Amino acid sequence: MCPNRPDEHPAPGAYVTRFAPSPTGPLHLGHAYSALIGYRRAQARGGTFLLRIEDLDQARSRPEWEELLMWDLSWLGIDWPRPAWRQSERLDAYGAALDQLWARGLLYPCRCSRADIRAAADAPQEGAPRFGPDGLIYPGTCRPAAPQVPPGPRPTDCALRLDMVRATAGMDPLWFDESGASPDGQSGRIEVTPQDLIEGVGDVVLARRDMQAAYHLAVVVDDAAQGVSEVVRGADLFDATAIHVLLQRLLGLPHPAYHHHGLIRDEAGKRLAKRDDARALATYRDAGLSPADIRRMVGLD
Ligand code: GLU
Repeated sequence: MCPNRPDEHPAPGAYVTRFAPSPTGPLHLGHAYSALIGYRRAQARGGTFLLRIEDLDQARSRPEWEELLMWDLSWLGIDWPRPAWRQSERLDAYGAALDQLWARGLLYPCRCSRADIRAAADAPQEGAPRFGPDGLIYPGTCRPAAPQVPPGPRPTDCALRLDMVRATAGMDPLWFDESGASPDGQSGRIEVTPQDLIEGVGDVVLARRDMQAAYHLAVVVDDAAQGVSEVVRGADLFDATAIHVLLQRLLGLPHPAYHHHGLIRDEAGKRLAKRDDARALATYRDAGLSPADIRRMVGLD
């Protein structure tokens, strides 16, 4: 396969970005920072800022969190075209992408629990357990020695993993353009080699058992379907971008540019999480702070 061609990137001028929170808790200062950066980048370019609700984790997503996050964003002065897309309503699109990969023998069913994976990764013959963007790198317990040819129907009662060795076979390095920075300061044209993906990422889950889609697949399908030209998000997702660029290539989708920004941390230097309710935007609002106060707090005055 040939490397990405420059003409696969969207034309300058058609700037579209998105903010893609999961409605699993209140938005905090880190979300405000991310959404404001994306919104400002879209405004500065006469572009479009989209809100996308990433609610594939149905066990933790709640309509009341969705309602609150929309309220928080509006309060900050952020606007987006209605209705916002919800990933739970896009399962047909994700199914079609999974079908393509399944038909090419690049996916395999996996019935391992987290405990199974931990136990297999800890086995002495595996060496030290290795970690990638999704945590422990899958030790390959369910990976078939050879793909079933022709493949039968795609199973829908278990997780599906991407066979990374097969998916990258014969592939030249991929790349993406980074206008922000990785946590260790990488910027500009970032190269992703098959070796990086095989050793540093491994066989990622593309369909959850309960949902028949998973974050990496859904984000790539939606960014393409929504014409996103630049993904703006926190540097904690920088390493996942290698997976996204690979999936774009495998599915014949365009490659957006990327802008990973630094993370807002607490006094101890720890990244803020949704469970840190003390830093929820709603808490600050209830205490009488204004959107301008929030902008000042995240250094975006
Ligand atoms: N849903 C992810 C989050 O809340 C963001 C995913 C993305 O921007 O690609 O962290």
